[in-house]
Formats: sequence, C-alpha cells, structure tokens
Amino acid sequence: MIGAGGHGLATAYYLAKVHGIHNVAVLEKGWLGGGNTARNTTIVRSNYLWDESAQLYEKAMQLWEGLSQDLNYNVMFSQRGVMNLAHTLQEVRDTQRRINANRYNGVDGEWLTPAQVQEIVPNINLNSRYPVLGGSFQRRGGVARHDAVAWGFARAADRLGVHIIQNCPVTNIRKKNGVIEGVDTGKGFIKAKKVAVVVAGHSSVLADMAGIRLPIESHPLQALVSEPVKPCVHTVIMSNAVHAYISQSDKGDLVIGAGIDQYLGYGQRGSFQSIEHTLQAIVEMFPSLSRVRMNRQWGGIVDVSPDACPIITKTGIKGLYFNCGWGTGGFKATPGSGWVFAHTVAHDEPHPLNKAFSVDRFYSGHLIDEHGAAAVAH
Ligand SMILES: Cc1cc2nc3c(=O)[nH]c(=O)nc-3n(C[C@H](O)[C@H](O)[C@H](O)COP(=O)(O)OP(=O)(O)OC[C@H]3O[C@@H](n4cnc5c(N)ncnc54)[C@H](O)[C@@H]3O)c2cc1C
Repeated sequence: MIGAGGHGLATAYYLAKVHGIHNVAVLEKGWLGGGNTARNTTIVRSNYLWDESAQLYEKAMQLWEGLSQDLNYNVMFSQRGVMNLAHTLQEVRDTQRRINANRYNGVDGEWLTPAQVQEIVPNINLNSRYPVLGGSFQRRGGVARHDAVAWGFARAADRLGVHIIQNCPVTNIRKKNGVIEGVDTGKGFIKAKKVAVVVAGHSSVLADMAGIRLPIESHPLQALVSEPVKPCVHTVIMSNAVHAYISQSDKGDLVIGAGIDQYLGYGQRGSFQSIEHTLQAIVEMFPSLSRVRMNRQWGGIVDVSPDACPIITKTGIKGLYFNCGWGTGGFKATPGSGWVFAHTVAHDEPHPLNKAFSVDRFYSGHLIDEHGAAAVAH
C-alpha cells in the first residue's frame, strides 16, 4: 500500500480484518495522516445525486456510525447535520431533485424553508447578495476528528499485523511483462505481488512511475480556522452561490473553506485571493462574524477527476491498483473507500459498490457527473 492517509490506512485495516490478509506494508513518504487527511475540514455526508455515488458514500456513512466502536478509538463522529443552501430558483429545483433522489436511495434528506434554516442557524443572514430560498438538510451528516481517523485506523491495522513504514517515499514502481514486481523506496527495494496506490494529490506522479496516465489534475485547496469562540454555529452550512462553508470544531474554532485554487500545483498552500473570496462570502452569510480573527490557514493538494468522482480501479498492469480522484471530498468516504478498495485488491475484482468507478468509464463514456452535488460542498 502506498500512502498512509486515511484511505490507505483504512484499506490496510479492512484487508487484514475482513479479508484475512495480514502481510501488508503501508509505505508513507512523510508521517501517517500528514496529507489531505489532516488538512481537510472534516465534513461527512452521503447526499450525492447519482445512485452509484449515493450508495458508495452511504456505505461510508454506515461505517462511520459504528467506527469508534469498531476501531476502539474515539473518532469524534458528530452527526450535527449538514445544510446546503439554495439561493436561486434553479438551485431550489436542483436541491429538491437531489433530496428526492437521495430518499429513493435510502439516504436521509429534507427540504428546509428559509424560516426553518433560520431556526437551525439563528445568526445567518438570509438576505445576502443571493437571498436564501431554502436548503437541504442531512441530519445524519456532520463532522469527525480527522487526526483520530488516521490514528484509529493505523492503530487497529497495526494490531492486526500491518506494517506502517513512515519516511519511506516510493521512488519507482517496478513491473516486468505487464506484471508488478515491487517498488523502489528511500529505504530500498520492496518485492510485492500487489501494489495499491492511494496518494491523493500525487496520484499522477505515481502513475507516471508505472508508465500509465490518469485523468487527474492536482490543485491546491485551502482552509482556515478562527480563534476559538463560544458555540455559535451548531451544524455545517454550505453555500454554492455565495461560495463558502463553515462549521465549528469542538475546540470552538470556526472551520472555513471554499473552492479549489484554479491553477495546478503541488505546493501545499494556495493564493491570497481565494482566502479573501472565502472570507467575503462567510461575512456576507454571517455578518456577526466579521470581527472574529483567523488563526491559521493552510492548503492540501486535491486530485480532481473530470466527473468529480473517485477512480477506484485495477490497471492494465497485473497487481497494480489505484484509488484516487476524491478531489475536495474524500474524507467523508474514508471508511467506505477502504472497504471497497480492500475488496478490489484482495479479490482482483471490484466490489459491487465501486464497479462503476473504474478508470474504464473515461473510455466508455459512463461518467458519473457529481459536479452539482460536490461543488463547494466538500
Ligand atoms: C483544505 C481541504 C479541505 C477538505 N475538506 C473536506 C471535507 O470537508 N470533507 C471531505 O469529505 N473531504 C475534504 N477534503 C478532501 C479530503 O481531505 C481528501 O479527499 C482525503 O483526505 C484523501 O485521503 P487520502 O488518504 O487519499 O489522501 P492523503 O491523506 O493525502 O494521503 C495520501 C498520502 O500519500 C503519501 N504519498 C504521496 N506520494 C507518496 C510516495 N511517493 N510514496 C509514499 N507516500 C506518498 C502522502 O504523503 C500522503 O500522506 C478536503 C481537502 C482539503 C485539502
């Protein structure tokens, strides 16, 4: 396994726990959970539009609901609800369509009137540049403690015999006659019959080592947190139109984010104008927060696919697998991603839930367009 982010660690854990495969090494170039896993804004939801994604993210949601018990580690999963605001008639229609589609898939969701939005979020300004016409609410959605997710999976995997090797960058993927041989690393060559790559923003770099191309672009995505304040934001609120989202951590920090920086890059930082734009949008939605000071800002590198959906796939090289393309929204999928990827690697066949997410869809044209349900809504 290459990459000790949440997805790689979850995959290793389920390989050992569900499939009885214990001779797994997770190779990490930095420290475990130091990539996007520790840099995200921790939003968890499963209200995606299309059947394929709703079912995949809902599997993850069901795993989240028992994860602390399963790992025996408190991942602080807090189902405080996720609200997506609608500001135009078109957004109202799209949002209601998504809620209906979600319900057909057994995913909870409800439509809120502006008055109901105000009841749940008393300090929101309903009459910003784009007035709030309503919103969707997934009550089972919420947030989780991202570091705890990485540590919880790591500890549980380690207990089952998985080796987690940090400071061990993979520098080359060796193959012979179309079959995987192993990987070169900063600590030497490691022979392996199967190599599974879960490196988020570095997916194209690793694919290049194997001589294949992936339809992935790597962009910076930023987030920021304020000084801690008393509880004032009790759910997760997102707006595609004003273009920002906010929640409040258990420490009291306001956790804020928006969209990707448009340029490609591997620097884990972003541009100043994205921060300005994000905070303008937040102050527009929450004028009462205009004097709150921001404490920290950072960036991660997100792996964006053309249809805003993950690629969980075998490759043309026997024994080589990729799990990537989660872009701005993969944290919420961590347990589900690990669950289906472990199945794919163990059986050399996709799990029914990730069959549609093979890289082949970019040749066949069976894309799963989630841009609408993803957007700013990580
Ligand atoms: C600012 C920001 C906010 C976000 N907000 C949300 C959100 O609210 N909700 C949500 O669902 N998602 C969110 N995301 C997306 C989410 O963080 C990612 O989709 C998810 O964490 C990806 O997990 P991962 O385990 O695949 O990647 P990572 O945690 O990035 O793990 C990949 C690992 O691979 C390692 N690696 C790379 N190259 C090599 C190599 N050559 N050899 C060995 N190891 C290597 C890296 O060091 C890294 O540790 C956000 C992302 C960012 C950046």
